[in-house]
Amino acid sequence: MMYGTFDVVVLGGGAAGMASALEMDRRGWRVAIIERESRLGGILLQCIHTGFGLIEFDEELSGPEFAERLSDRIPGSKITVFVGSTVIGFESMEEGKGKAAGQVVTFASAKGVTRLESRAVVLAMGCRERNRGNVRIPGTRPAGIFTAGLAQRLVNIDGIMPGREVVIIGSGDIGLVMARRMAWSGARVHAVVEILPRPSGLPRNVVQCLNDFGIPLYLSHVTTAIKGKDRVRSIEVCPVENGALAISKAFELPCDTLLLSVGLVPENELSRDAGVQLNPATGGPRVDSQMMSSKSGVFACGNVLHVHDLVDNVVEEARRTGAFVSFWLEGTRPSREIKVKAGSKVRYVCPGSLDPASNNQVSLRSLVVKDGAQLEIRAGEIVVKRIMKNHVRPSEMITFNLGTTELGALAHIDDATIEISIP
Ligand SMILES: Cc1cc2nc3c(=O)[nH]c(=O)nc-3n(C[C@H](O)[C@H](O)[C@H](O)COP(=O)(O)OP(=O)(O)OC[C@H]3O[C@@H](n4cnc5c(N)ncnc54)[C@H](O)[C@@H]3O)c2cc1C
Repeated sequence: MMYGTFDVVVLGGGAAGMASALEMDRRGWRVAIIERESRLGGILLQCIHTGFGLIEFDEELSGPEFAERLSDRIPGSKITVFVGSTVIGFESMEEGKGKAAGQVVTFASAKGVTRLESRAVVLAMGCRERNRGNVRIPGTRPAGIFTAGLAQRLVNIDGIMPGREVVIIGSGDIGLVMARRMAWSGARVHAVVEILPRPSGLPRNVVQCLNDFGIPLYLSHVTTAIKGKDRVRSIEVCPVENGALAISKAFELPCDTLLLSVGLVPENELSRDAGVQLNPATGGPRVDSQMMSSKSGVFACGNVLHVHDLVDNVVEEARRTGAFVSFWLEGTRPSREIKVKAGSKVRYVCPGSLDPASNNQVSLRSLVVKDGAQLEIRAGEIVVKRIMKNHVRPSEMITFNLGTTELGALAHIDDATIEISIP
């Protein structure tokens, strides 16, 4: 069934989808959001802890409160919202038969399959959690193994306790927050096990979620086996010493529930199927300075583009993307783009090119932990900028601006490429 025609269709109604849609609506475009859950809000709805919105609202909000601040603005807009609707594909249409080039988005809902036509599409499908298969933990395959985000949803939204004797693998913020949440709910959290020699999450979360609850954190420890027949009974944990497993020091942690918090991956099956080029370093689409992917008219923002730590950054990026979509719909594009790539000790840089005539926001992640670090931004022999950072670490996204002042020096170089490194 063909439902209608819009200027832009936004895939996903989390923080990124809502913020980009509101910006495009404000600029007068006809916008639709398609969201597979029954409400807008995305991952925020299950994050009942506080820590959201310090930049955007200058307040410390819970995830649902932050989501509400955005979703409350939708009824006052002209945005059309389809909830309970899962996008199953999108494709680009060539110009022809009296029609302009554009996109067709197909989604499935209780009413059946619906198709929408639009000039542009914004990808805002968020990310998903890596699971046991992704990290290849040996052992039996009993019940009681959950990703931390799924457990968070069960406890915070469905009111279901996944278990009582808990071990968590991975010390990222989701693992830390869930250690505290499970302890609050009466579970015994035996430990958080981390392969790296340092916690992956924020120091304040280590203090507030583990130390305050007396939950042990085993750093430089690997899970070498999951044990149990029907339900998980214990896990075997082994220290890593001098880069090798110290097998003789392996020990067991009893549990009936194992939560995996082992990383997030942008949700890009739809993008891949539609022929959007992905960046292996981020898992998200390759985008230019205007957040447009390799497919004309297809834009991306939020966790589907690269995994963010803070929703405030997601909203800022999404709003900027909404403005870029608006420029594109008006036929305005940068006259020139300068390529940017990750150099030494940098995992990725986003976006993949910059507009030398504008102020560009750049995001990156370090591959190393370093205090007193310097970001060096250069184009061949030309040092474009140096930025001092008190510290860099892989778990903290770094953002900064590069504007006309810095990029002006490259105006006369035709094939300039910027490389960002941490010397
Ligand atoms: C456990 C956890 C704790 C966090 N804690 C903090 C914190 O303390 N402070 C902070 O600032 N940030 C925190 N964050 C980060 C922040 O919440 C997220 O970065 C941000 O909300 C992501 O927004 P998004 O719109 O990109 O993605 P999401 O919120 O994931 O939204 C994506 C939406 O797309 C929908 N979707 C996906 N595929 C389809 C499809 N095929 N069809 C239709 N809809 C689809 C999904 O249902 C979802 O609603 C946390 C994140 C997590 C996971």
